[in-house]
Amino acid sequence: MELTHIEHLGIAVKSLDEAIPYYEGILGLKCYAIEEVADQKVRTAFFKIGQTKLELLESTSPEGTIAQFIEKRGEGIHHIAFATTSVKEALADAEAKGVRLIDKAPRKGAEGLNIAFLHPKSTMGVLTELCEKGDK
Ligand code: ZN
Repeated sequence: MELTHIEHLGIAVKSLDEAIPYYEGILGLKCYAIEEVADQKVRTAFFKIGQTKLELLESTSPEGTIAQFIEKRGEGIHHIAFATTSVKEALADAEAKGVRLIDKAPRKGAEGLNIAFLHPKSTMGVLTELCEKGDK
Protein backbone atom coordinates (compact mmCIF):
# COMPACT_ATOMS: atom_id res chain seq x y z
CA MET A 1 0.00 0.00 0.00
CA GLU A 2 1.04 3.56 -0.49
CA LEU A 3 0.83 5.88 2.51
CA THR A 4 1.51 9.59 2.09
CA HIS A 5 1.50 11.02 5.62
CA ILE A 6 -0.03 10.76 9.07
CA GLU A 7 -3.49 12.21 8.49
CA HIS A 8 -4.38 12.41 12.16
CA LEU A 9 -3.98 10.94 15.60
CA GLY A 10 -7.18 9.96 17.38
CA ILE A 11 -7.15 10.77 21.08
CA ALA A 12 -9.84 9.51 23.45
CA VAL A 13 -10.98 12.07 26.02
CA LYS A 14 -13.71 12.02 28.63
CA SER A 15 -14.84 15.52 27.78
CA LEU A 16 -14.14 17.82 24.84
CA ASP A 17 -15.00 20.79 27.06
CA GLU A 18 -12.22 19.80 29.44
CA ALA A 19 -9.70 18.77 26.76
CA ILE A 20 -10.00 21.67 24.30
CA PRO A 21 -8.66 24.32 26.73
CA TYR A 22 -5.46 22.27 27.11
CA TYR A 23 -4.87 22.00 23.36
CA GLU A 24 -5.71 25.67 22.80
CA GLY A 25 -4.45 27.30 25.97
CA ILE A 26 -1.28 25.28 26.63
CA LEU A 27 -0.29 23.91 23.22
CA GLY A 28 -1.51 26.96 21.33
CA LEU A 29 -3.44 25.01 18.69
CA LYS A 30 -6.79 26.15 17.35
CA CYS A 31 -9.88 23.94 17.31
CA TYR A 32 -11.26 24.49 13.80
CA ALA A 33 -14.19 22.07 13.83
CA ILE A 34 -16.41 20.08 16.14
CA GLU A 35 -18.39 17.33 14.53
CA GLU A 36 -20.65 14.57 15.77
CA VAL A 37 -20.43 11.22 13.99
CA ALA A 38 -23.69 9.65 15.12
CA ASP A 39 -23.12 6.08 13.93
CA GLN A 40 -19.80 5.93 15.79
CA LYS A 41 -21.32 7.53 18.90
CA VAL A 42 -18.62 10.18 19.10
CA ARG A 43 -18.20 13.91 19.11
CA THR A 44 -14.91 14.98 17.59
CA ALA A 45 -12.84 18.14 17.83
CA PHE A 46 -10.15 18.84 15.24
CA PHE A 47 -6.84 20.67 15.43
CA LYS A 48 -4.26 21.05 12.70
CA ILE A 49 -0.51 20.92 13.10
CA GLY A 50 1.40 20.98 9.82
CA GLN A 51 -0.42 18.58 7.51
CA THR A 52 -1.39 16.37 10.43
CA LYS A 53 -4.49 16.73 12.56
CA LEU A 54 -5.39 15.80 16.07
CA GLU A 55 -8.85 14.31 16.44
CA LEU A 56 -10.17 14.40 19.99
CA LEU A 57 -12.88 11.81 20.51
CA GLU A 58 -15.57 12.09 23.17
CA SER A 59 -18.17 9.36 23.52
CA THR A 60 -21.82 10.35 23.23
CA SER A 61 -22.96 7.07 24.80
CA PRO A 62 -21.70 4.80 27.61
CA GLU A 63 -21.89 1.89 25.12
CA GLY A 64 -19.76 3.64 22.49
CA THR A 65 -16.33 2.28 21.57
CA ILE A 66 -14.62 5.38 22.95
CA ALA A 67 -16.39 5.04 26.30
CA GLN A 68 -15.34 1.39 26.43
CA PHE A 69 -11.77 2.25 25.48
CA ILE A 70 -11.53 4.83 28.30
CA GLU A 71 -13.09 2.40 30.74
CA LYS A 72 -10.44 -0.22 29.92
CA ARG A 73 -7.34 1.85 29.23
CA GLY A 74 -8.04 5.40 30.34
CA GLU A 75 -7.81 8.54 28.27
CA GLY A 76 -5.06 8.73 25.69
CA ILE A 77 -4.02 7.90 22.14
CA HIS A 78 -6.71 5.75 20.56
CA HIS A 79 -5.59 5.32 16.95
CA ILE A 80 -3.23 6.48 14.23
CA ALA A 81 -4.62 7.38 10.82
CA PHE A 82 -2.54 7.20 7.66
CA ALA A 83 -3.50 8.99 4.47
CA THR A 84 -3.39 6.75 1.45
CA THR A 85 -4.19 7.19 -2.21
CA SER A 86 -6.77 4.39 -2.11
CA VAL A 87 -8.31 2.88 1.00
CA LYS A 88 -9.86 0.15 -1.09
CA GLU A 89 -6.51 -0.95 -2.52
CA ALA A 90 -4.78 -0.62 0.85
CA LEU A 91 -7.41 -2.87 2.45
CA ALA A 92 -7.09 -5.47 -0.28
CA ASP A 93 -3.32 -5.39 0.09
CA ALA A 94 -3.45 -5.72 3.89
CA GLU A 95 -6.00 -8.55 3.73
CA ALA A 96 -3.93 -10.42 1.14
CA LYS A 97 -0.99 -10.24 3.56
CA GLY A 98 -3.03 -11.75 6.37
CA VAL A 99 -3.95 -8.62 8.32
CA ARG A 100 -7.26 -8.80 10.16
CA LEU A 101 -9.61 -6.03 9.06
CA ILE A 102 -12.25 -4.26 11.12
CA ASP A 103 -13.77 -2.76 7.97
CA LYS A 104 -13.90 -4.89 4.85
CA ALA A 105 -14.78 -1.85 2.76
CA PRO A 106 -14.25 1.91 3.12
CA ARG A 107 -16.93 3.85 4.98
CA LYS A 108 -17.60 7.51 5.71
CA GLY A 109 -15.74 9.04 8.63
CA ALA A 110 -15.54 12.54 10.05
CA GLU A 111 -14.71 15.38 7.64
CA GLY A 112 -16.16 13.40 4.74
CA LEU A 113 -13.12 11.12 4.53
CA ASN A 114 -13.39 7.53 3.37
CA ILE A 115 -11.94 5.44 6.15
CA ALA A 116 -11.32 1.85 7.24
CA PHE A 117 -9.70 0.31 10.30
CA LEU A 118 -7.18 -2.50 10.63
CA HIS A 119 -7.54 -4.69 13.71
CA PRO A 120 -5.04 -3.97 16.52
CA LYS A 121 -4.49 -7.73 16.95
CA SER A 122 -2.71 -7.63 13.58
CA THR A 123 -0.87 -4.34 14.13
CA MET A 124 1.00 -4.86 17.39
CA GLY A 125 -1.71 -3.17 19.41
CA VAL A 126 -2.03 0.03 17.40
CA LEU A 127 -5.54 0.59 16.11
CA THR A 128 -4.77 1.72 12.56
CA GLU A 129 -7.02 3.79 10.33
CA LEU A 130 -6.53 4.30 6.63
CA CYS A 131 -8.15 7.30 5.00
CA GLU A 132 -8.49 9.13 1.75
CA LYS A 133 -10.27 12.30 0.71
CA GLY A 134 -13.95 11.52 0.16
CA ASP A 135 -14.40 13.14 -3.22
CA LYS A 136 -13.81 10.01 -5.24
ZN1 ZN B 1 -9.63 8.77 13.09
